[in-house]
Amino acid sequence: MTETSATRGLIFNEPLLWEIGKKGRIGFSMPEHDVPDAPLDKEFIRKDSELPDLSEVNVIRHFTRLSQWNFGIDAGMYPLGSCTMKYNPKVNERVALLPGFAEAHPLLPTSLSQGILRLMFELERCLAAITSMDAVTLQPSAGAQGELCGMLIFRAYHRKKGKPRSKIIVPNTAHGTNPSSATLCGYKPVGISINEKGILTPDAVAALMDEDTAGIMVTNPNTLGFFEENIQKISEIVHSKGGLVYGDGANMNAVMGIVDMAACGMDILHLNLHKTFSTPHGGGGPGAGPVCTKKYLEPFLPVPRIIEEKGVFSLSNDFPDSIGKLHAFYGNVGIMIRALAYILCMGGENLKKASQLAVLNANYIKEKLKKVLHLPYDRTCMHECVFSDKNQNPTKITTLDMAKRLIDFGFHPPTIYFPLIVKGAMMIEPTETESKEEIDRFIAAMEQIVEEATNQPDLLRNAPMKCKVRRLDEAQAARKPCLAG
Ligand SMILES: *Cc1c(COP(=O)(O)O)cnc(C)c1O
Repeated sequence: MTETSATRGLIFNEPLLWEIGKKGRIGFSMPEHDVPDAPLDKEFIRKDSELPDLSEVNVIRHFTRLSQWNFGIDAGMYPLGSCTMKYNPKVNERVALLPGFAEAHPLLPTSLSQGILRLMFELERCLAAITSMDAVTLQPSAGAQGELCGMLIFRAYHRKKGKPRSKIIVPNTAHGTNPSSATLCGYKPVGISINEKGILTPDAVAALMDEDTAGIMVTNPNTLGFFEENIQKISEIVHSKGGLVYGDGANMNAVMGIVDMAACGMDILHLNLHKTFSTPHGGGGPGAGPVCTKKYLEPFLPVPRIIEEKGVFSLSNDFPDSIGKLHAFYGNVGIMIRALAYILCMGGENLKKASQLAVLNANYIKEKLKKVLHLPYDRTCMHECVFSDKNQNPTKITTLDMAKRLIDFGFHPPTIYFPLIVKGAMMIEPTETESKEEIDRFIAAMEQIVEEATNQPDLLRNAPMKCKVRRLDEAQAARKPCLAG
């Protein structure tokens, strides 16, 4: 490697604001007032902490410097598998900030909210067109809440048919939120294994599916990056026993406008707008997890629903079978604005092309890196590929060591140790927005790391070396976060 874009630049040390503060320093001055002084009511003054006195430049530099310790998609490649950390065009941010949208209040009467209601209605129609489903709610605020919505609909549907049923089939490649959402709705998740090609088989589903099973949750493409080729047959088996098929659409970036989800047999499908349809994420939200259904499940969708009559949009709660409300007002509207702006800027053909390029990029990485890393399922992938640390076993270098070392080269690590069925998994999703040059830099960095794993394993055990912080105790970091630096 001759070049690295790693964290070598000017990174300042940064004390706490309390250490920078100096009594009497102020952020801005007000003109002398010409009215009598009135003391602040004592009860409004916090006694538990003394705030530091700071100038404006203190505050700006403090937060700007802290932001430079962070890594985001605007800083470099972020190949975090299953998260679709792609570059989000800034124009979508600008559109979401238009005052007419940004300052609209959700309590305004619908007669004064026609624009935003129309926007949401059109987004629902676009998402239905992209997935080939019939009805859409934008209310859930993330994929996980979309799953909850889906599971509540499973329950409401089966209850209406006479019996809510008690189990749900969940593949062992599923994201942890799938079994959690099912459990929250009172279902017992039943695990199901994949075959040697990394996908589900109709026989395995047939062996588990019975009339006490509410249905199946399927992520397609799955988290190993493979398309569930048997999905139609699997859906038929589930439907033949009166069950429903839930689609986890977190990996939609591989198949936007290409796969007809209705023809696959999906009854309900969630999308993650913050993954596939342009919203910066990684800092924990906000997001949006719209849920799409077939026509016959539409009555169960959350209320209020946006309806259109003769060009006038309104909100209706008149859906007696609805599972109720999931989110304050109508969901995270800013995310919806970005998504519609993205979809309209791209257009149908370019959305398909984005998916095709995402798949091409992942396969390019897979073909290059399989020469040096162990590839447990060696076949054409979709938008992500999963390696393992098996080749590094002799020197006891692990996926974690290699992921940490990548940080020194200026890349965010990939998803590691997921999916659980691959021991030491390293799940790489480059997305369509990385150029060939950037992907080649990533491949070169990985090749060098693999070589270091053999020849300089201690170097890897100490990585990262060029960062503000080195190896953190990740469990402690989550349980007892030290936010003071
Ligand atoms: C991200 C993800 C989820 C959960 O979505 P959130 O928006 O993070 O709640 C579910 N399933 C898969 C496969 C995912 O990648």
